[in-house]
Amino acid sequence: MNFYCADCGQQYPLAGLDYQCRCGGLFNLMKAPGETVRTRVSLGEMPTPVLRRKLLHTEVYLKLDYLQPTGSFKDRGAFTLINKLQELGIREVVEDSSGNAGAAIAGYCAAAGIKCSIYLPADTSAGKIKQAAAYKANIVKVPGTRDDTARAILQAAQTAYYASHVYNPLFFEGTKSLAYEIWEQIGVPDYIFVPAGNGTMLLGAYIGFRELGRLPRIIAVQSRNCAPVVSRFHGHPAEDFAPTVAEGIAIREPRRLHEMIAAVKASNGDFIAVGDEQVLAAQARLGAMGIYVEPTAGVTVAGMLQYFATGHDKDLKIVVPLTGSGLKK
Ligand SMILES: [Zn+2]
Repeated sequence: MNFYCADCGQQYPLAGLDYQCRCGGLFNLMKAPGETVRTRVSLGEMPTPVLRRKLLHTEVYLKLDYLQPTGSFKDRGAFTLINKLQELGIREVVEDSSGNAGAAIAGYCAAAGIKCSIYLPADTSAGKIKQAAAYKANIVKVPGTRDDTARAILQAAQTAYYASHVYNPLFFEGTKSLAYEIWEQIGVPDYIFVPAGNGTMLLGAYIGFRELGRLPRIIAVQSRNCAPVVSRFHGHPAEDFAPTVAEGIAIREPRRLHEMIAAVKASNGDFIAVGDEQVLAAQARLGAMGIYVEPTAGVTVAGMLQYFATGHDKDLKIVVPLTGSGLKK
């Protein structure tokens, strides 16, 4: 197993400190046929349940991915990444997420006995870092803007392994298990709705279903307040950014934007945007059904309701993953 550059093809070892190619290209994963990551470190992950429910007039399969050990689907990525790093003998990692990815990496590092430092802007609220802190991650608060934190993490990555949920393809190798699980539970669906921030679920689902030999239509949903990929995909001028309740996908410059667009195009899918009021209404609708998720998890439901607002063919198999637990906040 190696990394290779998507632009120039140069190969790099998995255990090295390079997190992207020296040409600036992003890494993908090169594997021998049938090669998988051995997994010894576990927090008790299991296939997450699927519930068949009717939302307005549409029957969907809700995939309860918030029922993962640290409370979000990001555990799929962290599980595979951290298992591989432990096997490679990596003793220390750095990461820069205040959200579900940071919590997942911190949790699996705790289970693996790997030292983990999470870099965050100094003004990050205490509540947001509570979970990673409970896993005994070293919280590094960087003064200044989000860009200052980005610079600090790249500096740190020169001497410690960057366990990034954006740069490291081993993370996507993990999130692809979502596709395999759905396939085992209900087969390949006609549609899957995924949130689109950095594309961790989008690209994972794409890789998994591609390996399985058939792609569902991938409908990727962004917040209307932060929809750079929607704009690019549809050729609209980029719009201004504003804060959104869907914090988990408020990514202004997704590093893998081109891959995200290529994946959705290959699936004959679409990028759509939903407003905060739709996201909160979707979260409330789920709550009223006994399903407690964080606001960002309302994005996929809101997207599905908007996409099929005027109806659809009968007997479509539609999967709507729910990404993060309401107990997070
Ligand atoms: Zn390159």
